[in-house]
Amino acid sequence: MYEWHPGRARRWRRFPGLERIAPGGRAVLTFDDGPDPEATPAVLNALDLADVHATFFVLGSRLVAHPELAHEVVARGHEIGLHGYDHHRHDRIASALSRSDLARGFAAIEDFLGIRCRWYRPPYGKMSTASADVCRELGMTPVYWSAWGLDWEDVGAERIAQVVSEQLDDGGIVLLHDSARFARRPSAHPTAQAIPAIVRRAQEASLSLVALRDVAGVRQEVVV
Ligand SMILES: [Zn+2]
Repeated sequence: MYEWHPGRARRWRRFPGLERIAPGGRAVLTFDDGPDPEATPAVLNALDLADVHATFFVLGSRLVAHPELAHEVVARGHEIGLHGYDHHRHDRIASALSRSDLARGFAAIEDFLGIRCRWYRPPYGKMSTASADVCRELGMTPVYWSAWGLDWEDVGAERIAQVVSEQLDDGGIVLLHDSARFARRPSAHPTAQAIPAIVRRAQEASLSLVALRDVAGVRQEVVV
């Protein structure tokens, strides 16, 4: 279960980023690790039905493998953030690799989608001095989270919705996954199936779920 980890708090203080947004009857919905043909389409359909937009932190390597799916994410009105090119733990890799991974992922989003990315979600929440430097140089803000759905574990949709709603509050940032590629579960479909209940419980708590751009006062910049 979710427990506050003091080590994590120290690390996140060392590399400042967004853990929450200002309260205002809203919480941010985010999806990591895609695009993935296994479950991203189901997540997109569930979000369409709920009339909710989210921020998708994509991996450059998956974007290059499935550009049509990344285009679909954008076409359905969602926001793109960067989760790296590959899925590294940046506190455990050489700083040269850390630098090149972020730069390569940022370039893939620009090349394939024509978008200048504003947000970086570090895999496992682990930043490095190098990744923080590259974020600053490229104009990206690190984005952590305040709530998650435990959806890297092999749990059902009802459990995911329950865990999220227990942690969901005004100004929160919710971490979910539209791919099981880096998880201990065979499929990410339970996350898609949890979306109606997550949205319903947010509404019961008078919270609307939004993409980060909708509260950060910035539009996703399109480079032609
Ligand atoms: Zn991830």
